[in-house]
Amino acid sequence: MSNIKNKVVVITGASSGLGEAAARTLSAAGATVVVGARRTDRIEALVSELNAAGGNALAVAVDVTRAEQVQALVDQTVKAFGRVDVLINNAGLMPSSPLEMLKIDDWDRMIDVNLKGVLYGIAAALPVMKEQKSGHIINVSSVSGHKVSPGTAVYAATKHGVRVISEGLRQEVKPYNIRTTIISPGAIATELPDSVSVPEIAAGIKEFYKDAIPADSFARVVAFAIEQPTEVDINEILFRPTSQE
Ligand code: NDP
Repeated sequence: MSNIKNKVVVITGASSGLGEAAARTLSAAGATVVVGARRTDRIEALVSELNAAGGNALAVAVDVTRAEQVQALVDQTVKAFGRVDVLINNAGLMPSSPLEMLKIDDWDRMIDVNLKGVLYGIAAALPVMKEQKSGHIINVSSVSGHKVSPGTAVYAATKHGVRVISEGLRQEVKPYNIRTTIISPGAIATELPDSVSVPEIAAGIKEFYKDAIPADSFARVVAFAIEQPTEVDINEILFRPTSQE
């Protein structure tokens, strides 16, 4: 993993699930990791653990729905470590429900975190990476970025949007030697389904997650994309539990 060692990697949504797993794997491979989330107790505990194991990690409180906080996450990274090699826009939530229930607050939350949060990450990191003439932006989509099923329309819309934004970004940032990667996981065992409150949707999600795989699967995929030689850009990866439809 020579192309991971000493890279400065910023990860949003690192207080649990996929982001936390990626932080562990990348730190163990020698990256400097900056972990962001709202639950500071969790990211501070993670950073203590990584640093005690010989890593170089920093926790920064961030709400990705606030552009100025995402900017501060990147600014603090540059102040502490001088650069940003990789940004992983991972923070997300999935309070899914049928459209006819008109849960407008949940629609807003998903659009704010899953879509605008990704855009705010790009806005904060892009000027730094352009100046460096190098960088890598990894955006977390989903199998829901490739399809839709009843009850998942808004979540799927945000995850389709993440893929479109990422591909548009890829086409625009080639002159600056910036790589872009979309990662679309299937069912991974994390806290993500906990936000589903509608019983019939929760039942379908429980079925979908019955063969969920551990979060280190995602961490290995992230590491694979980062460790490629600089001239190789892994544009997109879709992966699922082997048993998943
Ligand atoms: P978790 O619920 O375990 O983690 C979600 C993370 O997002 C938490 O660290 C949470 O931190 C963070 N987050 C939520 N809202 C905000 C916010 N406003 N500002 C900053 N951070 C926020 O779920 P996963 O690890 O599974 O999800 C990570 C990503 O993976 C999401 O984008 C999700 O859509 C995607 N994904 C997950 C799949 C799965 O099966 N698990 C499948 C496909 C995609 P905190 O609450 O502390 O702020």
